[in-house]
Amino acid sequence: SLSIGIVGLPNVGKSTLFNALTKNDALAANYPFATIEPNVGVVGVPDSRLGKLADIYASAKIIPATVDFVDIAGIVRGASVGEGLGNQFLANIRESDAICQVIRAFDDPDVTHVDGDIEPARDIETIDTELILADLQTLEKALPRLEKDAKRNAKDKAAQDLLAAARAAQGVLDGGRRLFTGGPEAGIDLALMRELNLLTVKPFIYVFNLDTDELADDSLRAKLSGLVAPAEAIFLDAKIESELAELDDDEAAELLESMGQTESGLAQLARVGFATLGLQTYLTAGPKETRAWTIKKGATAPEAAGVIHTDFQRGFIKAEVVSFDDLVAAGSPQAAKAAGKTRMEGKDYVMADGDVVEFRFNV
Ligand code: GDP
Repeated sequence: SLSIGIVGLPNVGKSTLFNALTKNDALAANYPFATIEPNVGVVGVPDSRLGKLADIYASAKIIPATVDFVDIAGIVRGASVGEGLGNQFLANIRESDAICQVIRAFDDPDVTHVDGDIEPARDIETIDTELILADLQTLEKALPRLEKDAKRNAKDKAAQDLLAAARAAQGVLDGGRRLFTGGPEAGIDLALMRELNLLTVKPFIYVFNLDTDELADDSLRAKLSGLVAPAEAIFLDAKIESELAELDDDEAAELLESMGQTESGLAQLARVGFATLGLQTYLTAGPKETRAWTIKKGATAPEAAGVIHTDFQRGFIKAEVVSFDDLVAAGSPQAAKAAGKTRMEGKDYVMADGDVVEFRFNV
């Protein structure tokens, strides 16, 4: 499933936020693996459609799409030089689809900042720099091998392309830019860079940890958003998130409302993570459960079926599809069928967000 690595300087609220993630008991029950890895937390992607579908189908339970958050400790200024970033750190971050940087904006004299004062722009640069330096080291190690390959296989276009891309990437990183933003501008195919296990090819999401009164400060939020645009910025109070995670749904909604918010920071993070990675969901529903399944935008019906089970993809015959809106307007699956809103789609069908699907397959 989708995985987002959380990085940040010490004392910015990473652990507080991460504890909030792992306290999410309702989800942990549906996803037992969540408790197996101590540094992984699972968050459900909020989706109001699921409740409506569950009503229509009288489903016994609802299973939302989820995002795995991985707590990646270990970044400080200078982490990439000397000993270098630890192997565990690199392994964790490589397995993540996106990187979420937690930045401290709250001020609290009792909580020291590693660099003395609260300065989000500097902290963002510190972390960006460490990741850029780590990528430069990876490239320096890889280049002799890439050069050898390119020389030995003078007619192998892939080897030549990879070497050229690696050299261009070195230039981008030397210029102090991350590959995700700087790469495409320099004409670098990021897919090639992924082969080289580089970190800065991943999309970044920025989470600003603020105090509750700062959360309501629109000009501060605009200023912080400006630091990271066009990347997405999320604003939350890690301490409140941790309290929210211990409340039941109604109480949580009340607390959020009292702060003028409609959605928890963690839910925002899951939603933005989904969008950042070009993912969407389709839905299945029945008396047992209503469930959202995660697919890449552009996935075909058999690919979508494969997310449920590889046998579904292999034996795919047809998908019976009705759009969520049509289904809700009709009021029931029978009424949707009677109104001609239910379609039989074949193997070339490209899934649309919110398709409610039943697959037909051979076993
Ligand atoms: P980490 O080192 O990034 O994992 O930071 P922690 O989560 O351990 O937080 C460091 C300290 O800051 C702890 O004492 C937290 O209680 C406190 N803290 C975290 N978030 C906030 C916040 O939003 N406001 C305030 N005032 N303190 C916070």
